[in-house]
Amino acid sequence: MTNYQPKDSSKSPRFCGIRTFMRLEQIKTTDHVDFVVVGVPFDTAASNRTGQRYAPQHIRNFSVLLRPYNPDMDINVFDYCSGVDYGDIDVIPGNIHRTYDNIVAELTPILDKGIVPIIIGGDHSISLGNLRAFHKKYGAVSLVHFDSHSDTWNDYYGERYMHGTPFRRAVEEGLIDPRHSIQIGLRGPLYSAQDYEDARELGFEVVPMKEVRKIGFDQVMKRIHERVENRPVFVSYDIDFVDPAYAPGTGTPEVGGPTSFEALEYVRGLDGLNLVGFDLVEVLPTYDANEVTAVLASSVIYEMITLTALKKRRELQQKAEVLNQRQ
Ligand code: MN
Ligand code: MN
Repeated sequence: MTNYQPKDSSKSPRFCGIRTFMRLEQIKTTDHVDFVVVGVPFDTAASNRTGQRYAPQHIRNFSVLLRPYNPDMDINVFDYCSGVDYGDIDVIPGNIHRTYDNIVAELTPILDKGIVPIIIGGDHSISLGNLRAFHKKYGAVSLVHFDSHSDTWNDYYGERYMHGTPFRRAVEEGLIDPRHSIQIGLRGPLYSAQDYEDARELGFEVVPMKEVRKIGFDQVMKRIHERVENRPVFVSYDIDFVDPAYAPGTGTPEVGGPTSFEALEYVRGLDGLNLVGFDLVEVLPTYDANEVTAVLASSVIYEMITLTALKKRRELQQKAEVLNQRQ
C-alpha cells in the first residue's frame, strides 16, 4: 500500500523544492490516504480586512519546518497515516454560492471514502460549504468551534452569507446538531448583550474566554468531551481564537485570548473524540508579522494531523484486540 508522507528534511533541505503543506506530495488522490490538506482561498465574505485568500500558500510556506514525530503526543504521525496536499479548491471571488457548490463537489469524493479533510481558509464563511459536504456523509455533525466570535449573527448589510453568519445558517439548514456543539473563546465588544444569548438560543453551549480562564483547561476539555460524546465531530478553528500577540495576521483580532501554547493544547485535548474533519480559517498574511501567525497556524494544522494519526492508531489497536480475542 502506498504510504504518502512528507519529504525527509534531514536528507533533502527544506528550502528546496516547491512548497506544499509539510512537504507532502501534491496529488489530487483519494486512494491510500487517511487525510488530505486542502485550501479554500475565498475571502470576499469578510466584514473587515480581506486577504485571507493568500492564507493557504502562506501557511504552506512556513509548514516546511514541521517534522513527523510529535513528542507532545508521543506518536510518529506517518507510522499510522498517509496524507497528501490536495491543492486548492477553485473558488469564485465575489460569488459565495457558486463557491459553496464547488466546495461540496470537491469534498464529497474525499468524505465518501472516509478520508479526513483538513481545510485551510479563506474567511470563516467557507465553513458553511464545508458543513454542507460533511452533512451529506455524516448527517448533522457536532461542532467544536474555537473563535473569539460566535459567528451566529443573522446578516451583515442585509447579506445572510458572510463570515460572521455561517453557524446560524448551519443550524437553520440542519447541518449541525447544536445540542452537541460548543463554542470556545468568545470575547471582545459586541453589538448588544443579546449576542451570546442568540448563540445559546440556537442551542450552542458557549464558553466565553473569561469563563475559559476561570474554569481552566481541564474543565473546558471535560465540557467539550461531555457535550460531543462519541458523535462525528467537525472542528472549526478561527485563528482569531488566539491572542493577536501570537496571531496578528487576521481580519478581526480580539485581545485577551490564549497563548500559542494554549492554542495547541486545546487541539491536543480533543484526542479521543470521533473527529471527522477540520478547518482553520481567517489567517490574513498581509497583516502577519515575521510569519508569527503562519508558524502558529501550521502548528495547529500539524496537531490536527496528529489527532488523525492517533485515531488511526486506536482503530488499529482495537482491531488487533478483536483478533486476539478470536484466537
Ligand atoms: Mn470566525
Ligand atoms: Mn473570529
